[in-house]
Amino acid sequence: MPHVITSLCLRDSGCVEVCPVECIVPGKPQEEWPLYYIDPDTCIDCGACVPECPYAAIFPSDEVPSAYTAKGGEYLNRVGFTGHYEGTNHHGEAVVLNTVKQLAAGEVVDLTDDIQRNADYFSKGPGYSAR
Ligand code: SF4
Ligand code: SF4
Repeated sequence: MPHVITSLCLRDSGCVEVCPVECIVPGKPQEEWPLYYIDPDTCIDCGACVPECPYAAIFPSDEVPSAYTAKGGEYLNRVGFTGHYEGTNHHGEAVVLNTVKQLAAGEVVDLTDDIQRNADYFSKGPGYSAR
């Protein structure tokens, strides 16, 4: 059961550097694949990436919440949302997203769809050719 990056990801990139098997890649093109993705065939489930994420976006695939309760103020990053986000990543580089929605405190969202989307990036998306 690989780890999965959910839509709470804001492309900070900190997780990439700690992965011992280098299986985390930035989604491209960003408008269609707005998250970073974990290659499920390469991930060894070490868990090193989880504490590196400032947005707590990474879960073991069997622990991805189907009813994530928002603390309030965090962003969900998914194709179809039209909100704008500007921030900086782990390296201080600019991150601009136009596929976000800011969550209200207590809002409940299902993050389990991200499991399939993560797998799709490598089975039929650009991640396949990037291997
Ligand atoms: S550290 Fe978190 S926000 Fe940054 S790329 Fe990894 S999963 Fe996404
Ligand atoms: S769990 Fe380990 S192997 Fe899998 S993506 Fe995270 S750091 Fe890489």
